[in-house]
Amino acid sequence: MIEDKQETLARHIEAYIRLEAATCEKMFRQGLGTAIWHDQHGEYCGTVWVRNISSSQIVIAYSSLSPQSSGSGEGQVLLPLERAATNPNYHKPYFLCRDCARRSGQLVLAKEKWACRKCHGFTYRSQRLGPAYRKEQRSEELFELLRPVGGQPSRPRYMRAERFAALVTEYETLRAELREKPRMLPEHSLRLALKPSWRSSSEPWVI
Ligand SMILES: [Zn+2]
Repeated sequence: MIEDKQETLARHIEAYIRLEAATCEKMFRQGLGTAIWHDQHGEYCGTVWVRNISSSQIVIAYSSLSPQSSGSGEGQVLLPLERAATNPNYHKPYFLCRDCARRSGQLVLAKEKWACRKCHGFTYRSQRLGPAYRKEQRSEELFELLRPVGGQPSRPRYMRAERFAALVTEYETLRAELREKPRMLPEHSLRLALKPSWRSSSEPWVI
């Protein structure tokens, strides 16, 4: 099959510039109000500046340069917040999505609009990947955790013996299953994944 030359827009949330209200607040309070976004190859995709946060709203400025997802554009927006007490000392902020008026922990920038995942019609990447690929991801997670040396997993110091034994079994079962199957790569658009790095609030324009 010949691949379509037209780039199709990603439909999974991880491909987009997105903001979690609680993370914005935490970073802003620490003086790290600038989120610089890069894709999985380290290419620059955009910047979000948290300008101000009050109990009921957050003001951000953004500049986006991600043709396969969030698009190209810039602006400044005021996003309403709602808070819910998770404990007596912390009222966790949530965005109020302007499209559906529902509370959402996270807003996504797409089509020049900040809205919740549902309003944009996005899924999570894992929902769009096949079972073989999810198994591969899980196996990589377990590899990171168990750090096998010469095929022998080692138990992290904090981990209980029973949990370690269960994870080793899971890891070995997955490895055996995956050996039977050729590696399946996800379709091109699914590889796109953007991540922020939070920098100083006074950060001007960084590419
Ligand atoms: Zn919405």
